[in-house]
Amino acid sequence: MYLSKNPFTGIVEKEFEVISNEQLQTQLELSQQAFNSWKNTPYSTRSKLLFKMADLLEERSEQYGRLISTEMGKPIKQSVGEVEKCAWVCRFYAESGAEFLNASILESTAVESQLIYEPMGTIFAVMPWNFPFWQVFRFIAPCIMAGNVGLLKHASNVPQCAKAIEQIFIDADALKGLFQNLFINHQQVELVIASPIVKAVTMTGSNKTGSIIASLAGKYTKKTVLELGGSDAFIVFDDADMHSALQQALLSRFLNSGQSCIAAKRFIVHESIADEFVTNFQSLIENLVKGNPLDTETFIGPLVNEIAMNELEAQVTTSISLGAKCLVGGEICEFMRSVYEPTLLYNVPLESPAWTDELFGPVAVVCFFDSDEEAIAMANDSHFGLGASIWTADMDKAAWISQQLQVGTVAINGMVKTEPGLPFGGTNQSGYGKELGALGMHEFMNIKTVSYF
Ligand code: NAP
Repeated sequence: MYLSKNPFTGIVEKEFEVISNEQLQTQLELSQQAFNSWKNTPYSTRSKLLFKMADLLEERSEQYGRLISTEMGKPIKQSVGEVEKCAWVCRFYAESGAEFLNASILESTAVESQLIYEPMGTIFAVMPWNFPFWQVFRFIAPCIMAGNVGLLKHASNVPQCAKAIEQIFIDADALKGLFQNLFINHQQVELVIASPIVKAVTMTGSNKTGSIIASLAGKYTKKTVLELGGSDAFIVFDDADMHSALQQALLSRFLNSGQSCIAAKRFIVHESIADEFVTNFQSLIENLVKGNPLDTETFIGPLVNEIAMNELEAQVTTSISLGAKCLVGGEICEFMRSVYEPTLLYNVPLESPAWTDELFGPVAVVCFFDSDEEAIAMANDSHFGLGASIWTADMDKAAWISQQLQVGTVAINGMVKTEPGLPFGGTNQSGYGKELGALGMHEFMNIKTVSYF
């Protein structure tokens, strides 16, 4: 069952049944038919569709923003921003995607050797709820520009978003079957991966699910890209611009009520500025506005559901019992039981969940260092490896530190974020492969070498 339940009010807005295996087979076959035609379309046709979708997303950003906020609780301004970002990614690939597909000439013993990029076919995406539009568009925009077609298994708590995205394709007069939403259960995920029609799988979500999907894909010899969890370090050196660092620390940690893979989760601060950082960070956190995600003033909305709330509560409580100091928050909001109080923990023991786990909610964790080596060791003390940010006025040091960090993305004097042209993906337990940019596009292409002798 796909259940659209407003996390703030607890009201079930809509329910959708899981489809039958026969219906699934029909959708798979439609996907194959669409690919047979789409792979031969000129780039100009693909661009035209993406431009049209970008227009629709922009026109409807308020409507879709409300849908996101109602369905998974994101504060409305951020939801509208997410939809606008989807328009950006559509336009970006409409304008620049074809350049990433140019053939290149290789040196060889032949008269000429070429490297050619060809679409693979149907790409299956298993996606999470936390950026219910963006996660799908950052997969599908480059995918269709490359000549592939897409199938989506969205998280079961955002079915209306899944349907709305499918509707955008219909309204943009896309080829039937180019992108289809599948309301399927976990068992049916294997049927999709096993189907000879499906050529590759992209999955964004938790490590546990990533491992299941990768095992299934391995069983049927299908390529995967995995974008999993993270516990990004945010390292502040004593020469950093404190004002900017604090503003971006707040945004990075508390956007989407803390439910972002690339949120800064572990703040690693030089001892000499520890008091200044913590005092100011605390006061910024105390002023965050909590409330109904549909209220434009709200910055912190509800957590996605009770399971997430219980998990976060347990992680924080255990960390405090192990010795972490809680300066603000540390509990469920008394007057809004779906909201977790924005929290600041410091001096957390490095064996506590606040340090070792991914905290998927509005909880900032601060620790202190006194040498560059110690900062690097603390940042790398994680089984994740998604992103990190470094705050310093010394660019040589920033470049050196960035080389030492075992992560897929580093932001210097800025927060880690994704954008259409920048390849994005993690290392270690944060997954493998890239999304976005030429590298992301090439993940789902048959890269063919052709030699003329
Ligand atoms: P999740 O529980 O792993 O779910 C993600 C998707 O996998 C959903 O569509 C879910 O469907 C499906 N799924 C779950 N168990 C499955 C199974 N046994 N077989 C087949 N499919 C299964 O993750 P989440 O809680 O929604 O998302 C939060 C996680 O995603 C966090 O760890 C976050 O860091 C990570 N994330 C990573 C990135 C990145 O770019 N690296 C971006 C966003 C989020 P159902 O809803 O039906 O269970």
